[in-house]
Amino acid sequence: MTERILVTGGAGYIGAHACKALARAGYEPVTFDNLSTGWADAVRFGPFERGDLLDPERLAEVMARHRPAAVLHFAALSQVGEAARIPGRYWRNNVTGTLNLVEAALAAGCDRIVFSSTCATYGDHDGILLDESTPQRPTNAYGASKRAIEDMLGNFAEAGLLRHVTFRYFNVVGADPEGDLGEQHDPETHLVPLMFDAALGRRAALTIFGTDYPTPDGTCIRDYVHVCDLVGAHLLGLERLLSGGESRVYNLGTGRGFSVREMIGAAERVTGKTVPVIEGPRRPGDCACLVSGGRRAEAELGWVPGRALETIMADAWQWHQGPGYAG
Ligand code: UDP
Repeated sequence: MTERILVTGGAGYIGAHACKALARAGYEPVTFDNLSTGWADAVRFGPFERGDLLDPERLAEVMARHRPAAVLHFAALSQVGEAARIPGRYWRNNVTGTLNLVEAALAAGCDRIVFSSTCATYGDHDGILLDESTPQRPTNAYGASKRAIEDMLGNFAEAGLLRHVTFRYFNVVGADPEGDLGEQHDPETHLVPLMFDAALGRRAALTIFGTDYPTPDGTCIRDYVHVCDLVGAHLLGLERLLSGGESRVYNLGTGRGFSVREMIGAAERVTGKTVPVIEGPRRPGDCACLVSGGRRAEAELGWVPGRALETIMADAWQWHQGPGYAG
C-alpha cells in the first residue's frame, strides 16, 4: 500500500518541491496548508487539505481521514525581519502550531516527524563553521521559535512518544530543474528573486542589508543549498524514521559560504544583466556569517548536496522567467 505522508506547508516553496519528490518516490503526499504564504496551484502531487495549525479540530479531522505514516513539517513563518518586529506571531504560529500538530499526530497514531529547523538557531559565532554541536544562541524570534520546537520535539522523544529527524536548513535557493516549481513570495523578501527582479528592472534596485559586517567584503555570508538537494535529504530522513531509526538532528548546508556581493556577481553572470544596488543598513536580527561545518548528514544519511552555485542560479533564473512565476 502507498504510504501517506502529511506535508504541512506543502503549498509553499520547499514543501511543494518535497511533495513532487515524495510522489516520485512512491509516497502519497497530503498537503496541509493555510495558504497564508503558499500557492494552491503548487499542490499538484497529492490531496490538498486546507487548514491551519492553530485549529486543532481541523488537524484531528485531517489526521483521522488520511492516517499518515509520518509528517513532514515545513509550515512556518520564516522571515527574519518580520520576526524582529512581530515576535508574538512567530511564537504562536510556529511553536503553538507545532504543539497542536504533534498532539494531533500522536492522537491518530502517527509518531514520526521530519521537522524543518534552521541555522538561525545558532546565532552569531564569529565566522566559525557551524556543526550540530555548536551552541544555539538565536538572534531573532524566528530562530528562537525554531529552537523552542527543537526542545519540544526532544522532550517528546525522550518521553518515548515520537521519533523525529530535525534538519537545520541553511539558505534554501534554486528551483525545480523541470520548471514546475520555484521560489516566490508575496511580498518577496528573499535575496535571489529580489536580485533577479532588480536585474529585470521590475524593481529599482536591490538593497544590500549592511556593508559593515566583519566579513571580507563587509556583507553577510550565507551557505546556499539547492532546494532539490535539500528535499533529497528529507526523503533520506523519512526512510530513517520509517525503518526504525532513532531521533537525530542534521545540518543541511554545503559547507561553502557566499557573501551578498558574491551572490550579486552570480546573478549578473546568469542573467547577463547588471543588478542595480543600494547599500542600506543592516537588517535587524541578521548574523554576519552562517555556514555549515556539519558532515553528519553525509556520514549517516549518505546525503551529498551536489548542485553548485552555478546550477542553483541557472535553475532559479529559468523559473523566474518562466510561465509559473507570477512576478
Ligand atoms: N539580503 C539583502 N537584501 C535583501 C534581502 C536579503 O542584502 O533585500 C541579504 C540578507 O541580509 C542575508 C542574505 O541576503 O544576508 C539572505 O537573506 P534572505 O532573506 O534571502 O534569507 P535568510 O537569510 O533571511 O533566510
